[in-house]
Amino acid sequence: MLFYPNEYYKTFSDIDIDHLKRIGIKGIIVDIDNTLIPWSNKVPDENTYLWINKLRNEGFKVCLISNNTKSRVQEFNKDLNCPVVWNAKKPLKAAYIKASKYLDCPVKNIAVVGDQIFTDVFGGNRMGMYTILVDPLSEKEFFWTKLIRKIEKKLRDKLRG
Ligand SMILES: [Mg+2]
Repeated sequence: MLFYPNEYYKTFSDIDIDHLKRIGIKGIIVDIDNTLIPWSNKVPDENTYLWINKLRNEGFKVCLISNNTKSRVQEFNKDLNCPVVWNAKKPLKAAYIKASKYLDCPVKNIAVVGDQIFTDVFGGNRMGMYTILVDPLSEKEFFWTKLIRKIEKKLRDKLRG
């Protein structure tokens, strides 16, 4: 099902990195807003910074992907220095194709981490990537996103079983 993630965690730091290795994941595409930092923050906090570096030290390639603007993404990425895709228009495929070129590995070896079902999970699943959903870090969002959240909540409740 295109709206169902392969895995679901409360936050990115809960993700089982060893498991990802075991199933052959080599590259990771990570959403920024509300996945790595709250929507209102501009730069990564220590937790985020350490996690991204841990992934890279463990041998994963990491690409950041965001529907947000170039300036937002560049400011966030200043000290991380990841390959980035801004104005991604998720869930459209173009940005994921671009990201997979940066990661230089086949889609089946790529995991997508994000907080939104209709952009991150749907977009990743359409590409045949391994999808990981996390809970959003902040409630402060656009009106439209809030509306989408209500629908997502129903799906999340289902996933929790
Ligand atoms: Mg997000």
